[in-house]
Amino acid sequence: MAEVLVYVDHVDGAVRKPTLELLTLARRIGEPVAVALGGGAADTAATLAEHGTVKVLTHDAAEYAEYLVVPKVDALQVAYERVSPAAVLVPSSAEGKEIAARLALRIGSGIITDAIDLEAGDEGPVATQSVFAASFVTKSRVSKGTPVITVKPNSAAVEAAPAAGTVEALAVSFSEKATGTKITGRTARESTGRPELTEAAIVLSGGRGVGGAENFALIETLADSLGAAVGASRAAVDAGWYPHTNQVGQTGKSVSPQLYIASGISGAIQHRAGMQTSKTIVAINKDAEAPIFDLVDYGVVGDLFEVVPQLTEEIKAR
Ligand code: FAD
Repeated sequence: MAEVLVYVDHVDGAVRKPTLELLTLARRIGEPVAVALGGGAADTAATLAEHGTVKVLTHDAAEYAEYLVVPKVDALQVAYERVSPAAVLVPSSAEGKEIAARLALRIGSGIITDAIDLEAGDEGPVATQSVFAASFVTKSRVSKGTPVITVKPNSAAVEAAPAAGTVEALAVSFSEKATGTKITGRTARESTGRPELTEAAIVLSGGRGVGGAENFALIETLADSLGAAVGASRAAVDAGWYPHTNQVGQTGKSVSPQLYIASGISGAIQHRAGMQTSKTIVAINKDAEAPIFDLVDYGVVGDLFEVVPQLTEEIKAR
């Protein structure tokens, strides 16, 4: 069976969920060989083997933490040349997309970004993408070189598949460009204790209807009762009620959770662009004619200041 190279996103050896989802998809098109880089890389092996990885290629060097993405691209290219895979899969984070694009350029391959599904095809893996503000779903495949594909978080359910994975060290010598851009400082974001917006299984967003920064506490309380992340429409962000890092939409983040609850959001096309691929969509809006009701699975016509606290109470009681 052909081998598929999977780039591992991890934090000090803890594998992030989008990589485990990627492994589920990778197994549809071949045998996953993972590439884990940086501090704790070897510690990823046990988790990766539980999810069907037949081999983990690891390398650690200070350069991965000290410089922007090029050292990682250098290492992924070494792994690519060693394995000659049928495809290279990378999680669709901002960093992942840069790594994938640089690798594709170096190896002369076509690239597909932000896939939401993958299947095996006669002429190589077929990727599904959601395009034009999620108005269309396309299926495409790379027609030149080894397919390099980035896959959005929440595109597949994580499935365990124990494998007898081996761990091998990669020998990487960095290119001249690897040390071109040095990271001069890192500022940790204050932790809210909530899941990362783009990876969360449940996202609750508030819009102009929330009416003020202080009222976002309503959304946050409901979010915490569900273990959800909190998002906001651009109107709420532009009003200074919620941070820009939490904006959902065309000029914000793209989310694709199992459940998306929009409160006080009208459903403008630019907002839909960032959430329309959510599996189940619920809207709470006092205007029965609001466009968001055209795309919801469940709609509540009502005042969010009445509905949201009732919902929170009900969920806490269970
Ligand atoms: P509104 O459209 O004002 O809707 C507020 C809704 O709240 C209404 O439907 C109202 O009925 C309801 N409401 C009011 N009070 C209550 C209540 N008490 N209870 C229940 N419901 C209530 N928007 C984004 O969100 N993300 C983007 O990334 C984005 N990018 C953009 C990029 C461009 C180039 C442009 C031009 C626009 C972009 N926008 C984006 C803006 C977008 O067009 C809309 O203006 C915005 O999404 C509206 O936000 P909203 O739904 O919160 O506000």
